[in-house]
Amino acid sequence: MGTPRTDIAILDEDLIECRACPRLVEYRERVARDKRASFRDETYWGRPVPGFGPADARMLIVGLAPAAHGANRTGRMFTGDRSGDFLYAALHAVGLANQPTATHRGDGLELFGVRITSPVHCAPPANKPTPTEREECRHWLESELRILRPSLRSVIVLGGFGWKALLPTLDNAGWSVPRPRPGFAHGSHIELPGPEHSIHLFGCYHVSQQNTFTGRLTTDMLESVLSAAARAAGLGPGRL
Ligand code: SF4
Repeated sequence: MGTPRTDIAILDEDLIECRACPRLVEYRERVARDKRASFRDETYWGRPVPGFGPADARMLIVGLAPAAHGANRTGRMFTGDRSGDFLYAALHAVGLANQPTATHRGDGLELFGVRITSPVHCAPPANKPTPTEREECRHWLESELRILRPSLRSVIVLGGFGWKALLPTLDNAGWSVPRPRPGFAHGSHIELPGPEHSIHLFGCYHVSQQNTFTGRLTTDMLESVLSAAARAAGLGPGRL
């Protein structure tokens, strides 16, 4: 793990050089070489994808891992695919983003008080990282949480994989997580005491097409969790 990092920009610079998971390095780079036909004229990012949003965010959204032809192509979390379209439209609707769309880095998108990250930073085959890869990547999330700790007041976890990855990481980063550890559920809300202050943890179904196309996660459901987490973080009410 080395020396704890104190600055999010340094963390992100280090992260994008990481090659610790052989299977994911091979996959992310192969996808970037082979490309999807509709993106054949683009240069894929093909590297670990860092978190996106301000270094003093009061609210954090934790997903699963970059999508092969989404964030692994564009180099920014949830950018360039249907999952991101759904998430950013909702963030904009509740006043946490300056625009509803996310197409590429440099598209002008800005988040207000919110950062988006994931427990695994490289695109996995079939969107399924292994438990070993989740463990290998954990220290990046832990460092990010430690850096955000002074400002962080709420966290939304998108789906059960992120939930399982995040709880022990929050524990390591200084917050008290109850034992036995609470299970993932959409709409769950737990307050976790921390060394300086507590954080509010919210569960939300993942914004994958599997959930949004079937109606398991609707726009109203997502906006409701986003608004609750924003209120818990003290964001708004001017913007909300
Ligand atoms: Fe490194 Fe995480 Fe990517 Fe593994 S998944 S190579 S630990 S950035």
